[in-house]
Amino acid sequence: MQLTIDLTGRDVLVIGSASAARQAIRRYEAAGAVVYRLSTPNGAEGDGPLPERPFLVAAVDDGQPGWEPLLERCRNTGIPIASEPAAGEPGHVTLVGGGPGSLELLTVGAVSALRDADVVFYDRLAPYQELAALTTGELIDVGKRPGHHKVAQRDIEQLMVDTALAGKNVVRLKGGDPYVFGRGGEEVAACVEAGVPVRVISGVTSAISVPAAAGIPVTHREVSHMFTVVSGHAPLTEKEHLHLTGLGGTIVVLMGIGTLPQLAAGLSRAGMDPATPMAVVERGYRPGQRTTMAELGTIVTAAADCTNPAVLVIGDVVRVAEANRNQVEATADLDRLAASLLEA
Ligand code: SAH
Repeated sequence: MQLTIDLTGRDVLVIGSASAARQAIRRYEAAGAVVYRLSTPNGAEGDGPLPERPFLVAAVDDGQPGWEPLLERCRNTGIPIASEPAAGEPGHVTLVGGGPGSLELLTVGAVSALRDADVVFYDRLAPYQELAALTTGELIDVGKRPGHHKVAQRDIEQLMVDTALAGKNVVRLKGGDPYVFGRGGEEVAACVEAGVPVRVISGVTSAISVPAAAGIPVTHREVSHMFTVVSGHAPLTEKEHLHLTGLGGTIVVLMGIGTLPQLAAGLSRAGMDPATPMAVVERGYRPGQRTTMAELGTIVTAAADCTNPAVLVIGDVVRVAEANRNQVEATADLDRLAASLLEA
């Protein structure tokens, strides 16, 4: 989290142990302050000179005894004190689900892990545009490198492990939930193998939230009582087409734009009704969000210009969204009618 105050050129004394204060120091530097350090109540080597009268004392809650006399002097002489939380224990990895791309759908846990990060490895599906406001950690895009090459999965794992072993708090920020087609399990295994402490913070998956952005509930009473989430990364087998058709609930497909023609043909061959409602929701929660609704028999033509990232929804729940939208529009019509009657 960045400070929202401009401290350009102001002397700020940050008190607290080097490890606990490392993030507070970055925050004050980012706000433009001239940062001075006192890492123990009596000063330590490397702390440098102290300002005559700082504009502000940032007191990091580092658990050390002995700060009270200094704080008392500040209070008596009118130097403001800002309380700062200590940075977490260094040297661990947190896999964070970033949700579908809207700040509102980040969890409280995600926000606090980002605040505590020294380094953030993120990719394009994570809510990366807002990152600078959420962390003072170094931001590293592993989705694309300057040469536009993706960093290989094994290299990402190595980077995370090496950075944590070098004593940094690493956040690996992923789109949606880390355990839904996110390779989170592999990244956890790499940390465990290297002896690096690791934890996972679940995120809001696009499988549920992106249909919701288009008004589609993945389950609905008396319409669908199950939903299956499928990867469309590679075409499905005939057996899988048959299974999905036989299930009868809602089918949600991620990474499915490239294989949409094969999927539609396969489900039709397996006997799914060509009038089954389908929707493609592109860029959920982002500028340019768009929903294309059609039926199994017409979706390939209707969605010909759809691009990733997009979520496909197959099943009668798509009609619930249509019905709700018509309802909302009908209510608006009634409101307009009532208003014009009142005016008359
Ligand atoms: N772990 C992620 C999924 C990663 S696979 C999650 O839980 O959401 C990547 C796929 O997710 C994309 O191809 C697309 O199908 C879907 N996706 C992620 N974010 C999306 C968004 N904002 N809008 C539409 N689809 C999205």
